Amino acid sequence: MFWKIDCFVGTVTRSITPIASAVFKLGGKPVFVSHVEEPKCERCGQNMDFIGQIPLKSPLKFSKRFAMAYLFMCPGKFDERVGLECETWEAFSGANAVILQEDHGRALIAEGPHRYVDYEVRLQRLPEPNVDVTDERISEREAAQVSEDTKIGGVPAWLQMNETPACPMCGLPMRFVAQISAEPDGPLPADTWDAVTPSSRRWDDATPAVPVTRSSRRWDDKNNHAFFDFGDVGLGYVFVCARDCTNRGAFLWQCS
Ligand SMILES: [Zn+2]
Ligand SMILES: [Zn+2]
Repeated sequence: MFWKIDCFVGTVTRSITPIASAVFKLGGKPVFVSHVEEPKCERCGQNMDFIGQIPLKSPLKFSKRFAMAYLFMCPGKFDERVGLECETWEAFSGANAVILQEDHGRALIAEGPHRYVDYEVRLQRLPEPNVDVTDERISEREAAQVSEDTKIGGVPAWLQMNETPACPMCGLPMRFVAQISAEPDGPLPADTWDAVTPSSRRWDDATPAVPVTRSSRRWDDKNNHAFFDFGDVGLGYVFVCARDCTNRGAFLWQCS
């Protein structure tokens, strides 16, 4: 038996109108509680895409100091020979950013374009066993209680190895805050991936990782199906320092 850890699992739905308050949401534009930030990729210089924002005080308290976390990721720079140049999957690579803000009572929304429509996240409290899912000693029953959906709290449903980042300031393992599924519109039809992105399935092979191709994006647009570029139907993981050392959180993603 393992102790349970509190967790809120999300049901993600497209919002008809933009969400303009500091709630948990995916896509749309960030609603800053302190000041507007527009991070650029440190690798390629492009403006990063806004992926989502996560409250750090409620329903779970992750920070004494910071009220919100804002997640950004480089749209990626494609190169036919070597695949994706910007390491969006790696914590502190400079190709993604988790910006933490203290609550200054504002609700600031930047001008300019955004890549994704707004997605509302409705939360349901579903505590999870406090386990490392990569630990082979845990039972299947326990592993099955760890949600692979978008969620706040709980434990990461690692698709590969446990990659809990260390805080760049204090060196301690960072605290898991949220998990984001790559498919806010729900799963794509299974055969679609085989049809349009066979190359992206080679992620674990010895050959260089090939990102989701441009052709699959056109398919998405046509069918009104958006996804975040976390490899092949991956999961993104957001962390903060439990000691509030820094106003930068960590983000990384994995795919199976
Ligand atoms: Zn980049
Ligand atoms: Zn720290």
